[in-house]
Amino acid sequence: MTRERAKEEIEELSRRLISYQHEYYVLNRPSISDLEYDRMLERLLNLEKQFPDLEYPDSPTQRIGSDLSQELPEAPHTIPVLSLDKVYSEAELSSWIEKSVRNTGSELSFILEEKIDGSSIVLYYESGLLTRALTRGNGLVGNDVTRNVKTIGAVPLRLPGAVDLAVRGEIFLPLKLFHELNSRLEAPYANPRNFASGALRRVKSSEVAGIPLDILVYEGYFSSPVSTHLEILEELDRLGFKLNPRVGFFSGKDNLKTIRDNHPTWQVGNLEDLPSYIRTIRQQRASLDYEIDGLVVKVNEIEAREKLGFTGHHPRWAIAFKFEAPEAVTRVENIEVQVGRTGRVTPVARVKPVKLSGSTISNITLHNQDYIDMLELALGDRVSISKRGDVIPAVERVLEKNEEGNTTWNIPPNCPGCKSLISRLGAHHFCVNPDCPDQVRGRIAFFAARGQMDIENLGSETLDLLIDRGFVRDVQDLYRFNPDDLLGLQGFGEKKVALIKAGLKKSKHQPYRVVLPSLGIPEVGQKAVELLIEAGFRDIDSLLNAADKQDPYLFTAIHGIGERTALTLIRELSSPEVRHRIEELKKAGLCFSEEVLPVSEPPEAVFSGQTWCVTGSFTHFKPRELAMEEVKRLGGRVSSSVTGKITHLLAGPGAGSKLDRARSLGVQVVSEEEFLKLLNPTSK
Ligand code: AMP
Ligand code: ZN
Repeated sequence: MTRERAKEEIEELSRRLISYQHEYYVLNRPSISDLEYDRMLERLLNLEKQFPDLEYPDSPTQRIGSDLSQELPEAPHTIPVLSLDKVYSEAELSSWIEKSVRNTGSELSFILEEKIDGSSIVLYYESGLLTRALTRGNGLVGNDVTRNVKTIGAVPLRLPGAVDLAVRGEIFLPLKLFHELNSRLEAPYANPRNFASGALRRVKSSEVAGIPLDILVYEGYFSSPVSTHLEILEELDRLGFKLNPRVGFFSGKDNLKTIRDNHPTWQVGNLEDLPSYIRTIRQQRASLDYEIDGLVVKVNEIEAREKLGFTGHHPRWAIAFKFEAPEAVTRVENIEVQVGRTGRVTPVARVKPVKLSGSTISNITLHNQDYIDMLELALGDRVSISKRGDVIPAVERVLEKNEEGNTTWNIPPNCPGCKSLISRLGAHHFCVNPDCPDQVRGRIAFFAARGQMDIENLGSETLDLLIDRGFVRDVQDLYRFNPDDLLGLQGFGEKKVALIKAGLKKSKHQPYRVVLPSLGIPEVGQKAVELLIEAGFRDIDSLLNAADKQDPYLFTAIHGIGERTALTLIRELSSPEVRHRIEELKKAGLCFSEEVLPVSEPPEAVFSGQTWCVTGSFTHFKPRELAMEEVKRLGGRVSSSVTGKITHLLAGPGAGSKLDRARSLGVQVVSEEEFLKLLNPTSK
């Protein structure tokens, strides 16, 4: 194909695809089938691959994103990106309205828009082409997320005119899709806003393309003058942007009939109708497919807006009517990093102490760097905080940027405890030094804690002393140091020392299924340990042997154990420090194998008169001989080869020649699932 022909076809395909995308994403009225659409897109992709210089920045293929990773550079805003002032009651709102009318000296109309709780975005168009999409950032500078934003179908890449324009909008994830996608995540997001913000900051735009983000825009900054917000919204609509159809328009002077006719989905009325509109939206809030945290009330007349002007923080011509008071507002005074027992680094915000539903909050976890990036949080920022699930305080968002010009905070390169390098693994940062004092302390405290080994009379103060005085340098030392050496230290009399000894002694009776999780191997908590034991790893040696094979499948074959757990288990159990710790704890007399529970009632002999053989591998029986133990326990006989005497063959994946032979002999072949049913006839 010639370049000439290709160019023609690319342009024709693009023209048609752009119009289909608009029908689909903005109007919700597709006119062709998905299949047809996909074919055309495929064709266009191919042509662009052959003629890379014909790949235009507004090509419909940009919606698919790219595999190349990108940093998120910063770029300055060219419009004022401000916050909104807030009111929480109708009384406050009506005095704001009165004040606005008084200060402009004219009659005003007000437009009410839903305040969508998503991720704020500014779209910049030059000569009609989307050139840049920036997050709010600190209001002056935002993160460039253009390539990710281009994957959002409802964002026009090219406008039907060569206009220069900035548009503000909110990117969000519809609630239903949020719940669907979030339930599949290993580390789910706390809310759809965080999901959307996180998605916008992904480094590969092809990943963003897979997330059904949506946008609603609410403000346009045109180079030619306009006289009302109504006109701005109508112009944005004409240019192909997606606007919220749910708008309230209240005025004592405009021609309400015309506005009602032009905007059938709007609620149009006199100023007196405004409060009841707020109540209606508040009621409908729960049934919307996106989250809103209030309404934005805006003066319609641009001339009045100019008279009212701005403060450094917000416009005076708009206000947010919030449905719920933020639980508390405070300032981030410092951010420190804590190093946990696994080396994981957790940034913690030290905030100006503030009362929040009954307690005083001064420390708030910030989880990880992504979370901080998503909030665009810097030292000195004023933030709104809440209590998630009414317990854990969380930073909800930045309300006001710091005045010192601090930019988004970053995790430092070195561990504050041991100065080792901090390195990133997945979503988190880690101190990689296993002897890091913070890690050691965390490991010992975790081991001794209630819910783990539950070592009585060994509170955090005692532990600190043991560690600080060098009695205990790691978990295993708890059983090696001599508590009598504490005698004479302040607060350590005969009685206290006797109690410590008793606590340590008692903990030695903890069963294997408590000892193993207490080691604090990441991912290997009580639940995972129970699965391992049920699957036949009934003592530490079987686990260590399996880990030596370095084959994650040995663990992932167990239902409920994922790849991450398997890999961590292998990595940790292969580490010399962990092995040494286990050896020492074994020597101290801790229990490293599952005791067989005495059977209370004689089991029913369901296999009596039968002879079983086994082939293949199994999830619940490792090694598979354990299945044959069950057969014997329940009255059956077993054989190691398939002969004429065999009545049943238990066959799992990877079955060998035994299966063929059993079939040719007419022996009944039983799957693991069926076998489990025989063992336990009451369960399904
Ligand atoms: P706040 O962050 O509480 O100061 O509120 C301002 C933010 O509300 C803006 O940055 C937008 O992200 C968001 N917002 C959502 N919908 C609207 C709207 N219709 N008009 C103005 N801001 C909105
Ligand atoms: Zn460290």
